[in-house]
Amino acid sequence: MAQPAVTVSDPWEMALEQFHRAARYVPLKRGIREFLAYPKRELTVNFPVKMDDGSVRIFTGYRVHHSTVLGPTKGGIRYHPGVTLNEVRALAMWMTWKCAIAGLPYGGAKGGVVCDPKQLSSGELERLTRRYATEISVLMGPESDIPAPDVGTNPQVMAWIMDTYSMHRGYSVPAVVTGKPVSVGGSVGREEATGLGCALVAREAAAAVGLDLKGARVAVQGFGNVGSVAALTLARMGAVVVAVSDSRGGVYDPHGLDPEALLACKRATGTVADFPQGQRVSAEEVLEVPCDVLVPAALEGQITPDNARRVQARVIIEGANGPTTPEADDVLRSRNVLVVPDILANAGGVIVSYFEWVQDLQAFFWTEEEVRQRLERLLVRGFQEVWRVSEQRGVDLRTAALVRAIERVADALYTRGIYP
Ligand code: NAD
Repeated sequence: MAQPAVTVSDPWEMALEQFHRAARYVPLKRGIREFLAYPKRELTVNFPVKMDDGSVRIFTGYRVHHSTVLGPTKGGIRYHPGVTLNEVRALAMWMTWKCAIAGLPYGGAKGGVVCDPKQLSSGELERLTRRYATEISVLMGPESDIPAPDVGTNPQVMAWIMDTYSMHRGYSVPAVVTGKPVSVGGSVGREEATGLGCALVAREAAAAVGLDLKGARVAVQGFGNVGSVAALTLARMGAVVVAVSDSRGGVYDPHGLDPEALLACKRATGTVADFPQGQRVSAEEVLEVPCDVLVPAALEGQITPDNARRVQARVIIEGANGPTTPEADDVLRSRNVLVVPDILANAGGVIVSYFEWVQDLQAFFWTEEEVRQRLERLLVRGFQEVWRVSEQRGVDLRTAALVRAIERVADALYTRGIYP
């Protein structure tokens, strides 16, 4: 089927465009396509935070629930100066599809605060987090909406959210949020789950296209939680990391870079761009270096129709959410570049978040081995299902993944019925 030519950079337009492209392949009853395209509820909060210098600053935050058809909502919280309602809407919708593909009993949500966490002191970050958690507590709860980390947030922020919610209740409620430190009810293996999952999915994708991961050249955009663990794990699997970048720039060496040393450099100087080996490249150039596997693990809209023509990788593993615009997807497809979509490739995070929630609810904790085995089982199953749909319908992996997700959510919706 011919795809419309669209130029989109707004994440919500991107998410809708992807959804409508895939929904054409799913026979939906009247009105259901529209139902699935709308976020169920959206909360905007403007709230004050006492700053260290004694002043009071007003911050804006959001929490969006896209769907509650499959269960309580699940989705991360982002702290970034570029957060917008449309970005949070898109990320919430992608969470719905991601959970559906993985077979998790969750709908999709996302939250965000417009702020630059790097410019805030630890005390300011804690006060901002506790106030934001209080503001969204009308939606949040272990049975209704369970946040997790995303860009700019980490296990410490999750611990503050858990503590704030627990203080309001008068008793500890660890299952209200995932991605917590293990000491307060977190799961072993959660912090590295998304990056590890990307590497496992890369292994499946490489095998599917006959690419030997041993010796395969890997480039990673974004060296945060997802990108750094993906690089470390792929290197352990035998791949050669040739380029990495973060927001301040990147480094390229065709002979290979040591991800452990890159991590040490990032910890010491705040950026991989200061790495004393290889050639300095810009954050964007990393997407175009000679490599076999490209892992965009930074932010949305990075692979555009323009640079998609210069991507040299054979396989793209979307560690980030929404890194490829729909128009760039068309270019990559025409150039036979295999794109493993975000809603499949980075599902490792929400899968282990689900495991954390289950462990918290049961107050019974698993070993790292159990977590890893269960994660691998769900990811491999998800990949195989999506691959099968892609072959059966003759569509790319993103469309196949969305078709599978839309079918699952629609099926549950028909069974539940429209209330009243
Ligand atoms: P993070 O804050 O730990 O890391 C983000 C990294 O991207 C940082 O190193 C930052 O410097 C870098 N970056 C920002 N802009 C960049 C640019 N223009 N070029 C190159 N690098 C840039 O965040 P994270 O948790 O690793 O999330 C990264 C992506 O993965 C996001 O899209 C997020 O939604 C997605 N994701 C995260 C998780 C999770 O469990 N953390 C799960 C699923 C998806």
